[in-house]
Amino acid sequence: MAMREKSNARKLLMSRQIIRKNSEDWELIPNLLDYDAARDHFSWEHEMTLLDGLPAGGLNIAHEAVDRHAAGDRREHTALRWLDKSGEVTDFTYGDLSLLTNRFANVLRELGVQKGDRVFALCERIPSLYITALGTLKNGSVFCPLFSAFGPEPLRARLSIGEATVLVTSEALYRRKVAALRENLPQLRHVLLIREQAEGNLPADTQDFQQLLNHASEEFSIENTDPEDPALLHFTSGTTGKPKGALHVHEAVLAHHASARLALDLHPQDVFWCTADPGWVTGTSYGIIAPLVIGATMIVDQQEFDPERWYSILRDHKVSVWYTAPTAVRMMMKVGSELAKQYELPSLRFMASVGEPLNPEAVMWGEEAFGLPFHDNWWQTETGGIMIANFLSQPIRPGSMGRPLPGIEAAVVRLDKDGTLQVIDDPDQEGELALKRGWPSMFRTYLYEEERYQKCFHGEWYLTGDLARRDEDGYFWFVGRADDVIKSSGHLIGPFEVESTLMEHPAVAEAAVIGVPDPMAGEIVKGFVSLKPGFEAGEALQQEIMALARKRLGPAVAPRQIQIEPTLPRTRSGKIMRRLLKARELGLPEGDTSTLEGNE
Ligand code: AMP
Repeated sequence: MAMREKSNARKLLMSRQIIRKNSEDWELIPNLLDYDAARDHFSWEHEMTLLDGLPAGGLNIAHEAVDRHAAGDRREHTALRWLDKSGEVTDFTYGDLSLLTNRFANVLRELGVQKGDRVFALCERIPSLYITALGTLKNGSVFCPLFSAFGPEPLRARLSIGEATVLVTSEALYRRKVAALRENLPQLRHVLLIREQAEGNLPADTQDFQQLLNHASEEFSIENTDPEDPALLHFTSGTTGKPKGALHVHEAVLAHHASARLALDLHPQDVFWCTADPGWVTGTSYGIIAPLVIGATMIVDQQEFDPERWYSILRDHKVSVWYTAPTAVRMMMKVGSELAKQYELPSLRFMASVGEPLNPEAVMWGEEAFGLPFHDNWWQTETGGIMIANFLSQPIRPGSMGRPLPGIEAAVVRLDKDGTLQVIDDPDQEGELALKRGWPSMFRTYLYEEERYQKCFHGEWYLTGDLARRDEDGYFWFVGRADDVIKSSGHLIGPFEVESTLMEHPAVAEAAVIGVPDPMAGEIVKGFVSLKPGFEAGEALQQEIMALARKRLGPAVAPRQIQIEPTLPRTRSGKIMRRLLKARELGLPEGDTSTLEGNE
């Protein structure tokens, strides 16, 4: 198709609305039927009445997610269905999960792990990870998931900033990535290893997770946590500086529950599959907490993406609500809709996507391949839960992130030259996406970086760092990031973390990292380096730098391309101009270069 035709076709797609059914036709009445009425009638106080609370007046995520169901008529209902790599199924009922997480909470208590102490997990998607997360919350400690594809450097940074007291990991991951870091992590008192074989010696200063669990009691009374007590720590990245630990509290469970009901239309009878890894916020908020709080069955697949396996899971386990990501959708599109159509999926009734822009073509491809569109929604680590969504019962605008959830105020804002914040009421104007502060899953700080936290707020508005516009019907459209962070396969990558690692190579004098568009991953990481005197640019050196980055950072974060340049563009104050490197890379106008060094 010629360029112009293609862009016209795209415009046409984006101006379309997908209106699904009349409300009388729903086989299961959607939790949100009338958007305006739902917003008008919503209150967080009412949302609390849908949950339990603790007997002594507190609130605890694990109680809402597990124990309240285990104590009632959902005790025998499957909470977690785990598929191991070979596809073998293990089911855990709410009753099972309650007892197992009690055991882990007792393990922590017996180890002397206190309320507020941080328990990190570095695991593949295996049942022990879920038991660790929920048992930690029962003990009143803070759960922090780490992505198992991280290399030693991102792990060291996060364990150290987060002052991990406990790490639960597999023996293989420990030996490969953590053992050598141990002497630099003095706060890390307990390392609990999940072992494939119980024989053989444990590495020094570690304990056997399963053995501790086997010996622990099944009786536990949940710590009476306050709604404002810390519960979850999720690391995210900014343009500069170290990774940021966004801290969330137990009250977040109100937003997990409300968004699961309203944005994902989850009902207790649903089989829900969130494909995200719990190493990232989506995989915890929606891959652990939200489906359990609803009382649904959640699918956990240990294996990585494979289209045939995924379609078989949807079919064989009768998945009814599916939450995935644009990179996965694009990979399925590449394989083609014919494969998808070979699988009959009568149970599937709702599909949603998050993490990166979902192109309108992908929304429509859902209709072609599954007979259902993908519903895009938007949120981020700091918001803790879905903030903006295309809803099941509402018209979808392909290419738009949707409209704010009940209980959430979103706006497009701009800061004037004098620093005053202007809310832009006119439609279709670009500005920064902002949210009115105060929703329950809002992060409460960046760990030990209160100043950085405060800078995210302007009066009553939280500034998200995303650029967006709102159309006249209140739908929000993603425009881009206001900063230099990179989104690759849905994972947020801070350029500074990558640059610091590139600088560790003895030949590298300066380094800058940008995201360049990629048809599958959205963006891939590209590094630019200049060399110290005495080093010669060439393919071999390029490969060597790339190999170092992969080893230190892991494949999810390391650059896929390295380019050696004589010098990197800097401002007169010495800051490397990533923006300029990006413009040059993409053949875009270079913009204002008046501050460029050498442009006096
Ligand atoms: P993270 O904190 O890793 O979840 O990343 C959050 C960022 O991902 C947001 O600030 C956006 O830049 C991007 N993002 C998330 N959802 C969407 C979406 N539906 N459309 C476009 N960008 C998104």
